[in-house]
Amino acid sequence: MRIDVVTIFPEYLHALRLSLVGKAVEGGVLALGVHDLRDWTTDRHHTVDDTPLGGGAGMVMKPDVWGRALEDVLALGVSHCGPEGRTVLAIPTPSGERLDQRRVEDLAGADHLVIACGRYEGIDSRVAEHYARRVEVLEYSIGDYVLNGGEAAALVLVEAVARLLPGVVGNPESLAEESHGAAGLLEYPVYTRPPLWRGLAVPDVLLSGHHARIARWRRDRALERTSARRPDMVAALTASQLERGDREVLTRLGWAATPAGPRPLAVRHATGDDVAHLAELAAETFPLACPDHLPAEDVAAFVRANLSPARFREYLADAGRYLVLVAELDGELAGYTLSVLPRAADEPPYAADVEAVVTVRPVAELSKIYVREAVHGSGISQALMDATLAALAARTVEGQPLVGVWLGTNARNRRAHTFYARTGWELVGTRHFTVGGRVEDDAVFLRRLVASPS
Ligand code: SAM
Repeated sequence: MRIDVVTIFPEYLHALRLSLVGKAVEGGVLALGVHDLRDWTTDRHHTVDDTPLGGGAGMVMKPDVWGRALEDVLALGVSHCGPEGRTVLAIPTPSGERLDQRRVEDLAGADHLVIACGRYEGIDSRVAEHYARRVEVLEYSIGDYVLNGGEAAALVLVEAVARLLPGVVGNPESLAEESHGAAGLLEYPVYTRPPLWRGLAVPDVLLSGHHARIARWRRDRALERTSARRPDMVAALTASQLERGDREVLTRLGWAATPAGPRPLAVRHATGDDVAHLAELAAETFPLACPDHLPAEDVAAFVRANLSPARFREYLADAGRYLVLVAELDGELAGYTLSVLPRAADEPPYAADVEAVVTVRPVAELSKIYVREAVHGSGISQALMDATLAALAARTVEGQPLVGVWLGTNARNRRAHTFYARTGWELVGTRHFTVGGRVEDDAVFLRRLVASPS
């Protein structure tokens, strides 16, 4: 590759003689030319600028001087790379496309890169317009701030492109995990010796030698960092960029790992405004957990009796008795929980067969936890569960904190069983449950909210 930089301050670019770019030039991986724009001036004062037409402050760089300079510099590329080579004229400007790693990767594939550094109010616009007819022109910005000249932006571009050329960075693996790479994440925090410095210890896992655990730790930190600093990058991830184990940390960070990639997830208390959507969601999701042999009319009767808008209005009106949380995915309801609290500390679960196996008091019931089928497996149930347990753990009944929560789930619903077992629930027995006059077998699970004194 050949890079030519045209500037009125060639010394500014001396920094390119240093470090990896300097070595790449010495080693012949990169041909680099730095040119003084004033060499193409024709007057005694080497004038490169003039007043802006139409008036206004500052000066504008003259197109005739730039035109002469670019003809010669573009010709250098033709002699170096041949007439078929890909040439890009890059013009730094705060009004350009924001430079990013994808664009840098693209430019690393060019044969000849010419960087035209503006000063003052910039270069006469016809220069970009004219050369766009002959070569690729990229007007790029290195960030939303204004510099005095394009030289610093040229240094940025040369360094970013050069390190992607084969042989420039010693260990190409170090490029793979970097911020803005194929993973679409910011890099995890890095450490070196000593393991303890000014009272700050390097995380133990990095000293463990356990490669899988280190990889997971780094991935979690990268996700956390990206979520906090660049949520736009998390939202741009695709499902195929997610790894096993990402879902849990994403859920904790307020994202659901949906089939379309991570989407913002918020779990909150339901309000009166949610009633219509809640009833719709409940009617849609309740049948999912019912065994196939249950007649549809029985399921529908249950939904009418217990999950209608009127019923949800009653639940919300009786906050001492009911807790309703909703999961909002990208602003739409995607799941909910309904918990039933005891009115008295020693109130037993309402069914005798549950009372026999759930003996802790005060105890609440997690009556419903449902998530839209299209987003099953996205971590929404987990987020709902965590928020519900946290809300219940903060509740007291007659001054006593809730000790446990129980739930019943159809004995044949394997998916639910696996989920409850994985999230710390203990299978304590069975009960009978009536849907539309049919008696079903339910498994009863219990989850303690406070550690019982040993
Ligand atoms: N009048 C211009 C505007 O408001 O867009 C700003 C001109 S600036 C003072 C002078 C030169 O600095 C630009 O022509 C460009 O070469 C360079 N420059 C300034 N900020 C830049 C940025 N954020 N990215 C790339 N180049 C920049």
